[in-house]
Amino acid sequence: MTKKELMQRIFGYDAFRPGQEKLIDGVLSGRDVFGIMPTGGGKSICYQIPALMLPGITLVISPLISLMRDQVMALKAAGVPAAYINSTLNGAQVQAVYRNLLAGRYKIVYIAPERLDYPGFGSVAARLEITFLAVDEAHCISQWGQDFRPSYLRIVNFIENLPRRPVVGAFTATATKQVREDVERILKLREPIRTVTGFDRPNLFFDVIHPELKDRELKRILASKRGKSGIIYCSTRKKVETVCENLRDQGYAVTRYHAGLEEQERTRNQEDFLYDRKNIMVATNAFGMGIDKSNVSFVIHYNMPKSIEAYYQEAGRAGRDGTEAECILLYNGSDVHTARFLIQNGSDNEELDPQQQEHIRQQDLRRLEAMVGYCKTNTCLRGYILEYFGQKHPDICGNCGSCKGNFEEVDITKEAQMILSCVKRIEDKLGYNVGIQMIGNVLRGSKNKRILELKLDELTTYGLLKDRTRSEIHAIVDHLEAEGYLQSEQEFQTLFLTAAASKVLYHSEKVLMKREVEPEESAAAAPSAKMDGYETELFDVLKELRGRLAKEAGIPAYVVFSNATLMDMARKKPQNTSQFRKVSGVGEIKAAWYADAFLKCIREFEREA
Ligand code: ADP
Ligand code: MG
Repeated sequence: MTKKELMQRIFGYDAFRPGQEKLIDGVLSGRDVFGIMPTGGGKSICYQIPALMLPGITLVISPLISLMRDQVMALKAAGVPAAYINSTLNGAQVQAVYRNLLAGRYKIVYIAPERLDYPGFGSVAARLEITFLAVDEAHCISQWGQDFRPSYLRIVNFIENLPRRPVVGAFTATATKQVREDVERILKLREPIRTVTGFDRPNLFFDVIHPELKDRELKRILASKRGKSGIIYCSTRKKVETVCENLRDQGYAVTRYHAGLEEQERTRNQEDFLYDRKNIMVATNAFGMGIDKSNVSFVIHYNMPKSIEAYYQEAGRAGRDGTEAECILLYNGSDVHTARFLIQNGSDNEELDPQQQEHIRQQDLRRLEAMVGYCKTNTCLRGYILEYFGQKHPDICGNCGSCKGNFEEVDITKEAQMILSCVKRIEDKLGYNVGIQMIGNVLRGSKNKRILELKLDELTTYGLLKDRTRSEIHAIVDHLEAEGYLQSEQEFQTLFLTAAASKVLYHSEKVLMKREVEPEESAAAAPSAKMDGYETELFDVLKELRGRLAKEAGIPAYVVFSNATLMDMARKKPQNTSQFRKVSGVGEIKAAWYADAFLKCIREFEREA
């Protein structure tokens, strides 16, 4: 099979992204390669496709257990036999992987760098035909980078001890020159074919907010993000605890991650997030490297990070699948003091001498200044970041807080009155309160069985907002809650009126809501195509189905299909298997597994609509 066919049949994509083809061709022709592409740029495919085409075995060195597990899971879901070797496997499991390896049952094996030194693995490796060795997150080899991993230094010994030198490929999202030089020199790449694709992530919206009260701002932001998956980064463990607790009290499905938690809890929380059991992760920067969760739709920084590098890396975990996502930083002056303190009093890296340590400290302080500059600039935020990485850019990107001037205040008093009175009528009729779904359904005039059983269709507020989509109504309800007109009961998240609601209901207090204004057509930015209301609803329904299928199979939802794939599906509305195969991200195996369920779901949706 050609690389193009593999791309289509295994991964379900029609076209290569910038840089991918050149790197794949390089490896296939026997050359070393060095791929520098932003997070979400699609580096994995650059070693996975050659792995499937070359004879023998491809080893992928990867720094993180979660990353390996994720990628192997995704490969298996696409029908590729793959495995990983790391400390989560027990002795018998490792032996089983070795046996399968020697029997030629895998094309691609992920391995933690520490393992390369194990004599057991050494003797297996000597008997394998390793044709390609890919070093993922290759910046871990440099002590100038964020994530120096001493065990990466030993990769080159391993290569030199092999009976035959495989083609070596290095992949990273780190742009700085120093790190790049380290990677090439330490890994001893031989005249590698290099690609440095642009660092822009057009689908990410950047914004910096200087709020008076961060917690209130956070609440306001989250109100418009119900059901979406996101990460909130805080600078300290303590802050993680308090923010997480606050949000939990407000009824959000949140979990937390920082280095002070027991390993067991960390793993559990991380999985809750990956598997969408909890859709918000509150964490320190200990969380995230190698998190390939592709459906993260927002990354909020509760505190300013210490450098643009760190910020871009963390924020870049949003929107990996190319769909629109938001990166919002909540800034205030005390963040600068905290960051400076952490740099000046941070723990030293024992592998460096005092002079090197001082050098790093100075460098960190310079990086901090650049970060503060980002928070204060009035110019294009994307431009600021790209400039920092030495990349050319237009003055105005059209998709950041500075360029977009994108909100207008709209008067939603009428809708607010309808919603609040609906909540009141339901309570009067039933004698208890209900949740947002039910309220939305009544307002939309749904013929849902529960509604008819409870005779809620007899209410005067039934169907008052039938021309609005579910998500529009939910956004307004969330806004009313954030503004304090509605409150939710903690355990069941039912909504009830607060005293303030009567001001709107009986004294015509005005309710305003910020609404996004459609940006003017901009040539500079090419955000992914927008969906209309109908498609958005279908997308929600498809997401539900995906969640169910993932749960049954015990895999994260994004391993079934990415958000980008579901959006394309909602747009294309395939009616049969061959149309289903045309959806971006649907390969042969996935089509075989999932076509029936999704086609049925689409048919039903169309019938009901
Ligand atoms: P990176 O490792 O560079 O951060 P990944 O390899 O994890 O990025 O890819 C990010 C996302 O982009 C994945 O969901 C992947 O399936 C998708 N992707 C990769 N290549 C393409 C392509 N050519 N077309 C569409 N989607 C792609
Ligand atoms: Mg990657």
